[in-house]
Amino acid sequence: MGKYPVVIENGSRRTFWHHFRLVWWGFSRVGGGKYKGRVSERKFGRVRAFCREKHLRFYTDNEYGRRSRDYRARFFRENPPLPGGFYFCAYCGIPHGRRRITVDHLYPVAKVSKDPALQKKLRRRGISDLNGPANLVPACHRCNAKKAAQMGVWIRKGRIGRHQWFWLFRWLVRCTVVFGLCYLCYRYL
Ligand SMILES: [Zn+2]
Repeated sequence: MGKYPVVIENGSRRTFWHHFRLVWWGFSRVGGGKYKGRVSERKFGRVRAFCREKHLRFYTDNEYGRRSRDYRARFFRENPPLPGGFYFCAYCGIPHGRRRITVDHLYPVAKVSKDPALQKKLRRRGISDLNGPANLVPACHRCNAKKAAQMGVWIRKGRIGRHQWFWLFRWLVRCTVVFGLCYLCYRYL
């Protein structure tokens, strides 16, 4: 059974008030209201529930715990835009220029960092880094806000919609259908 490296920080309340309990659980203070420790899978849920109840910040201190500072730049570097400088939103397919498109974490850091079972699943799927290209998709502001930390159907949508050719193909099919109908009407009516 694995042990999970966990960090607890001041959230809307102070860790200060829970010092003795955190130390009792095997955490050690690293300064600035921050505590680090390793908890077993069994204890993980209890610590998480405690932090939620006491309004403290809680996350795992591994590759799934943090969003990197440069994930946006990295995404744009590794995924050049379509000709004309735009990206299709992975969820709704509306094209936006680079300035107006946001970069979304397909599997949200907030959820994954608190869920060892999900981390295991992602490892099996080969996503070892939430800030890597496998977990980043372009999204418009509206979809990004709507999705927030949701998963489920959003993940499925994003995994298809991240392929820019999917939307190009859709446009092509639509144009062909419209053009074909116009032509048939013109010809036979
Ligand atoms: Zn969108």
